[in-house]
Amino acid sequence: MINAPNIPAHEGPSFRDSLTSIDSKGQRVFFYPKRPNGRYYNRRIWLSYALMGLMFAGPLLRVNGHPLMLFNILERKFILFGVAFWPQDFKILFVGFITLVVGIVLFTAVKGRLFCGWICPQTIFMEMLFRRLEYVIDGDRSAQRKLASLPWSNPIKLRKRTLKFVLFFALSSIIAHTFLAYILGSERVWSLVNHPISDNPGVFLSLILFTFIFFGVFWWFREQVCTIVCPYGRLQGVLLDPNTTQVAYDFVRGEPRGKHGRERQKGMGDCIDCAQCVEVCPTGIDIRNGSQLECVHCTACIDACDAIMDAIDKPRGLVRIESELGIGRQESRFWRPRIILYTLLFGVLTGSFGYLLVSRTKTETSILRARGQAPQHLPDGRTGNLFMVKSINKTFQELPVEFQLVSKTGSLDMIGHSLIIPPQGYREGAFFIYFPSESTPLRKTFQSKPITIEVRSGGQLLERVHTQFQF
Ligand code: SF4
Ligand code: SF4
Repeated sequence: MINAPNIPAHEGPSFRDSLTSIDSKGQRVFFYPKRPNGRYYNRRIWLSYALMGLMFAGPLLRVNGHPLMLFNILERKFILFGVAFWPQDFKILFVGFITLVVGIVLFTAVKGRLFCGWICPQTIFMEMLFRRLEYVIDGDRSAQRKLASLPWSNPIKLRKRTLKFVLFFALSSIIAHTFLAYILGSERVWSLVNHPISDNPGVFLSLILFTFIFFGVFWWFREQVCTIVCPYGRLQGVLLDPNTTQVAYDFVRGEPRGKHGRERQKGMGDCIDCAQCVEVCPTGIDIRNGSQLECVHCTACIDACDAIMDAIDKPRGLVRIESELGIGRQESRFWRPRIILYTLLFGVLTGSFGYLLVSRTKTETSILRARGQAPQHLPDGRTGNLFMVKSINKTFQELPVEFQLVSKTGSLDMIGHSLIIPPQGYREGAFFIYFPSESTPLRKTFQSKPITIEVRSGGQLLERVHTQFQF
C-alpha cells in the first residue's frame, strides 16, 4: 500500500482505523463532493453514457426475435448474446463465470480498481445520473451543504427536496424495470405495465421492492455500497502490489506541502494543500494519505489537482495513475510472477470456455435402460433391452430427432414415432435395442457392454450418447 511518509502528525495513520462515512458516534457522515471537471471526467461521461445506453437497451435488443440477454434465475433459463443456455449447460456458464472473475483479478492486479470507477453500474448510475441530477437541482458542493443545513420548513429546501425525491424515485423505477426485464424478459415487464396489477401481482411486488432498494441506495446509502458492501473492494489489499498502477499522490514531489502565497518557504513540495482533491472525492477520502480501501479510482482527484497545477504553473500529474514503485522513482515491472500466473490461467480458461461453447450440442439427451426391466431373450436368438430417452432442444427452432445405434450387429427399434422436440422444450420416448444373444436365457447374472447411440436431425449428427446394454 502506498503510504505518504510526510503526512502531518495530526493525521497520522489513524485514518485507516475508521471509515470516512461514519463518525466516532457511529452516525452517517454525508458527503457533498464538488462537481468534477477535467479530461478524465469528460472521458468518463462518454463511457458512462455509452454503457448506460447499452444497459437500458439490453433487454429490448433481439436476435432472431429472442432477447439478446436474459438471466431468468426463477425458470432457470439463460440467454447470452442470443444463445439459449439450460441448467444442463451449467459447466459452460460456470467456466465462463470463473474466466470472468480471473479476468477481473488480472485487470485489477495490472490497473488497480479502475473497474469500480469507470465500469461498475453502481458508480455509473450514482455519479453520472443521480449525482449530476443533484448538481442541477441542488447546485454544487457549497450550495448543497447550505441547503442541507436549512430547516425543512424552508420553502426552497422543501421544493428542491420534493423535486429531487420525485426524479430519483422515477429513475429508480426505470432502473428497476430494466433490471427486472433482464430477469423476466421485457415482454413480461411490458405486460405488467399494460395490464391490471392483479394479473401480475408477483412481478409488481418485485418491481416495487427493487425500486425502493435502488432508491435507498442512490438517495441515502450511496458510496457505502463500495466501501461496506462490495466484496471486490475488500479484496484490493491482496490484489494490488507495488507494481500495480492506481490513482496515487506523488508524495516525493508534493511533500512537504504548504499553502500557496508569499509565506511559502523555499524547498517546499508542489502540493499547496488546497484540498481540492479531497473536495471532489465521492468517498470523502484524502488521496494524499496513500491508497485506501474507499478509493474507487474514479480519477476525479486527478482532474482537480491537474487544474490546480495548471493554475500555479506546475506540471500536471501530482496526483496521477502510477504504481507505488513509480512514485518512489523506481522502475516498475509489468511481468511479475502473479501476472504471468493470472495470464496463463486466464488463457487456459478462455480457451476452455471457447472450446465448450464451440462443442456445445443443440440437444442434451439422456438414454437409460428402463428400470426393473430384465433383458428379453427372443426366440430368434436376439436379446433386447428397453431404453427410455429424454431429449432437450436448446435451440429456438423445432427439432425432429432420430436415434441410430453405432453397431454392425445390433439394431434400434423406436417405439412409436420419432421425436419432434419443440423449441426450448423436451420430449420423452422409448426404443428397443437388440443384439444377438451372447449368453443362455437361463443365466442368473447379467453382463453389460457399452454402446453408443447417435442423435441425428435431418441426417445431421447432433450428439453421441453412451450407455450400457445388458445381456
Ligand atoms: S481518492 Fe480520487 S480516485 Fe479515489 S475515490 Fe477519491 S476522487 Fe476518486
Ligand atoms: S489538489 Fe493537488 S495541490 Fe491541492 S491538496 Fe490535492 S494534491 Fe495538493
